[in-house]
Amino acid sequence: MLNAIWFRNDLRLYDNPALCAAGQSSHPIVAFYFFTPEQFRLHDVGETKQRFILETLAELQKDLAALNIPLIAMLSSDYSNSENLLGKLCDRYNVQTVFANRELELNERIRDRAAVQRLEKAGKSIQFYQDQTILPVGEVLTAEGTPYRVFTPFKRAWLKQAAATTLASAPPPKRQTALDIEPTSVEEILSWQSPTHANRFWQAGSHEAFKRLDNFCNSVIDRYQRERDLPSLESTSQLSPYLGVGAISLRTCLLQALQYNHHEWDSGNQGILTWINELIWREFYKNLSYHYPELSKGEAFNSATKHIPWSRDTEILQRWQKGMTGFPLVDAGMRQLNHLGWMHNRLRMVTAMFLTKQLFIDWHLGEAYFMQNLIDADYAANNGGWQWSASTGADAAPYFRVFNPVRQSQRFDANGDFIRKWVPELAGLGPRQIHDPSPIERQIAGYPLPIVDHKSSVEYVKQAFKTAQAMESV
Ligand SMILES: Cc1cc2nc3c(=O)[nH]c(=O)nc-3n(C[C@H](O)[C@H](O)[C@H](O)COP(=O)(O)OP(=O)(O)OC[C@H]3O[C@@H](n4cnc5c(N)ncnc54)[C@H](O)[C@@H]3O)c2cc1C
Repeated sequence: MLNAIWFRNDLRLYDNPALCAAGQSSHPIVAFYFFTPEQFRLHDVGETKQRFILETLAELQKDLAALNIPLIAMLSSDYSNSENLLGKLCDRYNVQTVFANRELELNERIRDRAAVQRLEKAGKSIQFYQDQTILPVGEVLTAEGTPYRVFTPFKRAWLKQAAATTLASAPPPKRQTALDIEPTSVEEILSWQSPTHANRFWQAGSHEAFKRLDNFCNSVIDRYQRERDLPSLESTSQLSPYLGVGAISLRTCLLQALQYNHHEWDSGNQGILTWINELIWREFYKNLSYHYPELSKGEAFNSATKHIPWSRDTEILQRWQKGMTGFPLVDAGMRQLNHLGWMHNRLRMVTAMFLTKQLFIDWHLGEAYFMQNLIDADYAANNGGWQWSASTGADAAPYFRVFNPVRQSQRFDANGDFIRKWVPELAGLGPRQIHDPSPIERQIAGYPLPIVDHKSSVEYVKQAFKTAQAMESV
């Protein structure tokens, strides 16, 4: 008899609670993974992230093989098919108990409930573990026992609870006696999705994630607070793709940051404390997606905003997607996304707010484009970021707060270096002109005129929000 670890969004050996528990059980382990292209299509997960998942899985296959744990990876269409395949594999390999880390989103929860029922019917069981967040979702609640809807009080409660908790990593299992089961080959795993242009910039796997974490903590984190908003400097960790597939755990990131800060939670190195704050944003959005499953169905958090008559103009949307809006910083951000499959956080806010609050395009279209193109696409963080930018969210930017893209550019890319890198046709312009070139400079450079007038578009969107609020209160 065997036990199984069912890998999903947790593609690592180190600090993997389900794998650790499976390793402590009395039976040898086999590992399962189901790759679900049809489900990815439904969830807008693009090709770059799909390939990144497979490359991470290929690395994991080798790490598991070194422990004599065979990985059986299978191509499945969607979640309901994975649940069938899981049942069949458990029969084939005489698996009694499946170990898995809980996933928090709606369709994943539905899949897991169905898998539990299916295995129970066959006299088998699944044991779930807490992994996607550092503190279990549902444990950080207000005094009334309700979920927090605003970040700052959530963070305060979270910090208090985390500091009072013993946080420890889950060790990987020990090497087991070899089983007579052939693992799925790395070649087969990688054949399910070819790499995109963006994949070449991201070495996959846990080993790379740990290298990046070490490098960030040793050389960058000290200046994180001062420089994290400046996109031309590489002053953020770029760990999001690895967190997104579970090549590294959020807890590992937190524990390492704390260690560098001599285990101080609220004093010490400001760079480290600011970075921890960002990790807590991730926790916050995961909690929201868990407590408010209607968000997964496309609903706005602030129900009044459902009355806003967003535009779905494809021509304007495409100009934004291609980075041809005539606003240099916006275009630089979009071109960074299209090239690298990743965008700096400041620019995610600028481009998302520009699409919704200046071009008045439905935020769902921007959300989907980010999901399809980001290598770090994460439903909860992406939905949270879009609803923040569009002012439809839980703890969103107020609707009357609209970034002026030219001023953002002067402030966060003062010298224009980032724009020069990503909008090369403007590379010859100096720091004064580059943020908003004159019509002649644009013509010479072959760069478009601004797609919209900042001032009047802001007025238009403010009016739309006011009308929506009035409609809600009728
Ligand atoms: C419109 C929009 C869409 C976004 N979509 C995603 C997404 O699909 N996937 C994703 O991981 N992040 C998303 N973010 C959050 C943030 O932009 C990225 O996490 C960050 O840019 C990743 O770069 P980094 O790893 O260098 O971050 P660092 O600055 O090094 O931060 C460390 C980690 O903290 C977390 N984090 C940082 N900022 C945020 C934030 N604002 N919200 C939630 N978590 C955060 C991430 O896990 C990040 O890897 C989005 C933000 C916006 C405004």
